[in-house]
Amino acid sequence: MKLSFHGAARDVTGSCHLLQCNGRRILVDCGLFQGGRELQEENAEPFGFDADSIDVVLLTHAHLDHCGRLPLLVKRGFRGEILATAATKELARVVMMDSAGIQEEEAERALRRARQGKERGNGTPEPLYTTEDAESTMGYFGRTLAYGEPLTVGPGVVVTAYDAGHILGSASLRLEVTEDGATRSITFSGDIGNAGRPLLRDPHPPPPSDFVVMESTYGDRLHREMEPSVEELLSAIEDTFRRGGNVVIPTFALERAQELLFHLREGVEEGRLPRSTKVFLDSPMAISATEIYRNHPECYDQEASAMLASGVDPFAVPGLRFTRKSSDSRAINDIQQGAVILAGSGMATGGRVRHHLRHNLRRPESSVVFVSFASKGTPARQVIDGARTLRLFGNDIPVRAKVHTINGFSAHGDRDELVAWHRAVAAPVTFLVHGEEEVMQSLAEALPPGRVEIPGKGDSFGL
Ligand code: ZN
Repeated sequence: MKLSFHGAARDVTGSCHLLQCNGRRILVDCGLFQGGRELQEENAEPFGFDADSIDVVLLTHAHLDHCGRLPLLVKRGFRGEILATAATKELARVVMMDSAGIQEEEAERALRRARQGKERGNGTPEPLYTTEDAESTMGYFGRTLAYGEPLTVGPGVVVTAYDAGHILGSASLRLEVTEDGATRSITFSGDIGNAGRPLLRDPHPPPPSDFVVMESTYGDRLHREMEPSVEELLSAIEDTFRRGGNVVIPTFALERAQELLFHLREGVEEGRLPRSTKVFLDSPMAISATEIYRNHPECYDQEASAMLASGVDPFAVPGLRFTRKSSDSRAINDIQQGAVILAGSGMATGGRVRHHLRHNLRRPESSVVFVSFASKGTPARQVIDGARTLRLFGNDIPVRAKVHTINGFSAHGDRDELVAWHRAVAAPVTFLVHGEEEVMQSLAEALPPGRVEIPGKGDSFGL
């Protein structure tokens, strides 16, 4: 058995790990590198293996940093089978199509700049992949993974998915490999969720394994409790309505948007928020994702299942409006007060939220509520860090709105949750991935005794 690392190695994006056993080449995730320009340019580089040599791809979940290079894999010759849970397959389609659309737009923009002589002349800017590539990738999705049901993916190779509790359809994958009469197991954690959140079941660690490849995003910190965070969110909205303004919430399209709808619905049902509250989900991608969430109650936890069984739609906030068309989005600008606007992108690097920030940041009666992680250098982070003005559409917009940062909504387990998960999997050999290097060092120290490796990109290990 041989294991090599081709992304999310001492880094939080681009998850891509290759397992070779019994003559089979199995890829676990094929994610996009996200972040600064340098990281983005890494996406176009060779994978470190031949795309057409891969037999099987196992996809842990539909986040872009786990599925975002799949269309490129297909474009470069992959013709094998992609396996994922049913919900992951549907969400991955939305995520890959959105990403392809952005790649196409960026390539067009680069082409325009090149024509105007503004771009350095290194050939025709070509999108990493197109919406056609993303669409044809869907044709390679084969059998469906169901939690707890083993599937054979090669001679002597059996995979079982376990709930990762991170986003809808997310899974930890445990492979049992029988080579030369001996069976060994290796578990890929995927991203591990933060227990106790609404909608999804808590993470279910796979049975003990010989090896584990484990994420470490928040391996050095503890999260705040969920309940006070919900409380903070509702009071921020109440306060803003009293001042006569709107609430803008930059949000990720998967999971966070649906969680927020869930909490807002409860807020209205409990009488904390007026029934007249106008809630806008102003993100085509989040709208599509919410529809997929509705179609997969098999992923829900007990509370959400019971809700559904009693005829309650967990996302149906009274006064909720889905605004797919940009004309409907623009119409929100005419509303001066009493609106809660959920829009992407979560870090305000693009998307419709930038328009809502332009209209509301300058208004002391409005609020901006940050509920998502924001990387350094992003507009969200600038406002969180207290910027007096924000540059949007070529103008410096004064920040007069009230700014709230609420930290309790993470979709990733914290240090204690990761350590408890690892204890259950009880692997004597651990490979830490999907984290910043210092965080990984810190998590390595917190783990039970055993061999811990922090592989770099391109590193490979004989197991
Ligand atoms: Zn994820």
